[in-house]
Amino acid sequence: MSYTPHGHHLIAGEKIGTETKFSSAPATGQAFEFSTGTPELVAQACVAAQKAFAGFSATSREERAVLLETIADEIDARGDAITEVGSAETGLPEGRLVGERGRTTGQLRLFATHIRKGDYLDCRHDKALPDRQPLARPDLRMMQRPIGPIAVFGASNFPLAFSVAGGDTAAALAAGCPVVVKGHGAHPGTGELVADAITAAVKACNMDAGIFSLVQGGTRAVGEALVTDPRIKAVGFTGSLGGGRALYNLCAARPEPIPFFGELGSVNPMFVLPEATSARGADIGTGWAGSLTMGVGQFCTNPGIAVVIDGPEADRFVEAATQGLGAVAAQPMLTDGMADAYRDGARRVGEGVGVKALLTTACEGRDGAPYLFEVSAADWLADEVLSEEVFGPLGLVVRVKDAAQMQEVAESFKGQLTATLQMDDGDTELGRTLLPVLERMAGRVLVNGFATGVEVCDAMVHGGPYPASTNFGATSVGTLSIRRFLRPVCYQNLPEALLPKDFLTA
Ligand code: NAP
Repeated sequence: MSYTPHGHHLIAGEKIGTETKFSSAPATGQAFEFSTGTPELVAQACVAAQKAFAGFSATSREERAVLLETIADEIDARGDAITEVGSAETGLPEGRLVGERGRTTGQLRLFATHIRKGDYLDCRHDKALPDRQPLARPDLRMMQRPIGPIAVFGASNFPLAFSVAGGDTAAALAAGCPVVVKGHGAHPGTGELVADAITAAVKACNMDAGIFSLVQGGTRAVGEALVTDPRIKAVGFTGSLGGGRALYNLCAARPEPIPFFGELGSVNPMFVLPEATSARGADIGTGWAGSLTMGVGQFCTNPGIAVVIDGPEADRFVEAATQGLGAVAAQPMLTDGMADAYRDGARRVGEGVGVKALLTTACEGRDGAPYLFEVSAADWLADEVLSEEVFGPLGLVVRVKDAAQMQEVAESFKGQLTATLQMDDGDTELGRTLLPVLERMAGRVLVNGFATGVEVCDAMVHGGPYPASTNFGATSVGTLSIRRFLRPVCYQNLPEALLPKDFLTA
């Protein structure tokens, strides 16, 4: 490895080491030591963030846009090292790391463009009506303002796009909120390199160093201290339901409860409607297998459950999916723990009443290989465990008797990030009946596609009702995600000299 991690935290521009260390656990290559985080370091980072907030919230949109673009440039300048370290730590292929870096710098630059336009501020102005009867109306202006320091938890499955300089950090900095990141233990070296890039950009832009800190983990006390620090005003999180729920509960129990924007994953059901099944069931099966195995199934949008009307056409769909999945070799998962959790999940599904195993590929250690199971709708509806996410390349086919039972199955799903219809023209009536159920269930509804591959753009919604996310009204991907870190303030009768700069320039 040509890059040797320094192993320090980056707190308000300073590299800080601690005596206690934890070791990285790379999929390949050498392990390195990293300083373990402490509640004291979290407090230091939060104090610096709080101090920096007033100045940062008063910066112009142009200044913050330049900061975001400079971060993107600094990340690109470290591109080769990031790819090398990221690939070794996570086991993800180099091509994936390069692509994910493009997405990460692309979303930083997208936020720069977005805030330059200014419409995200949603400025409104009800002019004074001094002569209105029976009461005069005051001058009222409203705009979105940054809320304060934000805690960000780097996600394990996107070491760049959902981690240190990922969507949460980009959105918060774009809004004018300082960020304190809790690094993910699955990629501490990648996190450190990206934190170095942000620190260099903050310095190059002459901004207060307190607007960004990375505290590495190594102990649960770090995350707990971060979400309960009184200076933190909101949390961005992507991870497990258990971890997310524990941190959400801590946020709610604070003397001042704060919003916890947790993205906790789903099974992303796909409904294969009858005309589509008979016209192109095999193609859909092959496509589904491809989507299920992307990134060793470690995507929050992995379409884990397919619902199809039983019959010979459904058999063709299932055969093609079995063949497609059977052709995919075992590959390293992000951590040993995830590989163990994956196999536990597969065992749990396989032990379900009426569940038939169609494909069980042997895998051990850190490797994950595809599994495919099928079950009748009646057995699926009777066992809630079968509707829970198994993080990895596992598919479950639910065979329903008819359209009415497909509707019943659809209505039983909990909140999801996505829901998909595979349909042809002749399926329009059934699609129309299912749509209201799907839009209540999911943040994104797709037709004739696969849920993996989340476009970063203005119209994207990556969120959904619980347990897909802890905040159904928000998205963690796309420009709308900036709204999580803003709140509307109404200014009544303020002279222009006192109004935020943005009001006059938006
Ligand atoms: P995780 O265990 O929820 O951890 C995410 C982050 O939260 C880590 O920084 C972790 O710190 C911290 N954390 C978790 N529980 C905590 C608690 N009780 N107190 C304080 N901090 C806490 O998720 P993960 O490690 O990324 O992956 C584990 C599982 O999460 C996977 O097997 C998968 O099921 C799921 N997952 C889902 C998605 C998705 O997109 N939905 C993405 C990734 C993972 P520590 O590392 O120090 O524990």
